[in-house]
Amino acid sequence: MTISPIQPRRRLAEAAQAVLFLGLPFVRIGGESALRFDIPTLRLHFFGISLWMDEFFIVLIALFFFTFLIIFITQVFGRIWCGWLCPQTVIIDMTGFLDRAKVKRAAERVMAYILIFLISVIVAADLIWYFVSPYDFFPALARGALGNVTWGSWLVLSAVIFLNFAFLRHTWCATACPYARLQGALFDSRTMVISFDSRRKDECMDCRACVRCCPVNIDIRNGLNAACVSCAECIDTCAKNLGRQNKNGLIGYFFGNPGATGSLIRSNVVMFGLLTLLTLIFFLYLSLSRNPLDLTVLPNNEIRARMSNGNMVMNGYILAVENRSRDDLMLSLKALSHGMQLKITPEQLVIRAGEYKRIPAYVFFPVPDRTLQPGNAELLLEAGKQGDVRASRNVNLMLPETP
Ligand code: SF4
Ligand code: SF4
Repeated sequence: MTISPIQPRRRLAEAAQAVLFLGLPFVRIGGESALRFDIPTLRLHFFGISLWMDEFFIVLIALFFFTFLIIFITQVFGRIWCGWLCPQTVIIDMTGFLDRAKVKRAAERVMAYILIFLISVIVAADLIWYFVSPYDFFPALARGALGNVTWGSWLVLSAVIFLNFAFLRHTWCATACPYARLQGALFDSRTMVISFDSRRKDECMDCRACVRCCPVNIDIRNGLNAACVSCAECIDTCAKNLGRQNKNGLIGYFFGNPGATGSLIRSNVVMFGLLTLLTLIFFLYLSLSRNPLDLTVLPNNEIRARMSNGNMVMNGYILAVENRSRDDLMLSLKALSHGMQLKITPEQLVIRAGEYKRIPAYVFFPVPDRTLQPGNAELLLEAGKQGDVRASRNVNLMLPETP
């Protein structure tokens, strides 16, 4: 006889999910939010990396990774996410007092709705903290300087979340959730599902306890149902009822139909497992090898090539430099060319973390023979003792126009 203890484990997973979801905006790595899209600077802070708008192909790869991961997990474990970790399920379970209050006095129902509203306000604020750091949000709130957009977003989100958890609840999962609809297409004959063991159907007492406990009123004995939210309540209920007769429950997790044989390693699972792994490796490679220094060199149209100090030519450029790292950079600037001694000013510049600067720079070179083209030069920016951070661009050296 087995009493299935799934609900306590589910509650533990849900509590961990709630702590993670609520706590993550408060976690900082390298002085920045662990996970936040900063709207004013259009930067994504992602676990120690700050990605700029024009680096969003890295985010795209991360999105591919998560898409493949979700498909892979769904193919193997079915609706495990819905039953154990989905925020919708977690909050519905946390606010189960509403379902109990519905059959009680009006005052208790009103109290339940007030509690749900307060929870909605906190959840809405938490969503905003993934865009506005809570370390800025609370001081601004205290000063009365939160801003209309933030206030408006908070109010609208609070209202939507309240309506969802006060009235829609599991109806959303059973009828409208796009992920739930998608799963039908991802399941195969060996995907893990919650199922009634029809091989032992004669042992069923027809007590209907599994139907009464089901939040979406499914009779799992009739087979799989797209509305099932995989909460596993029916597993525990049946196990408890049959346990009194020293029998195992008739409902459980099965890979495919109860008693089905065949390999759990299938071509679709292997394919999406590999795609998940490859996109993860590619994402890590791009994130870890990204250059935090961006350099663009533009001709300085206000200063044409001209003679300087007798036999030297001066070329003017504008350096557009962006420091995408989280540290200030002390940079040395060099101009290199084959067979020519070049001089450049300035030789040193400081770019603060996250700063974008346009800096005029001047390259000087000798002209032994004004009929020869001076060729190319490489403008090189370096920081660190070994030039740990560097960026360079090639420029054409120009001679002054002859009068
Ligand atoms: S059939 Fe009902 S009780 Fe059983 S897992 Fe699905 S939703 Fe939960
Ligand atoms: S709880 Fe178990 S025994 Fe009772 S009706 Fe459901 S499957 Fe049958």
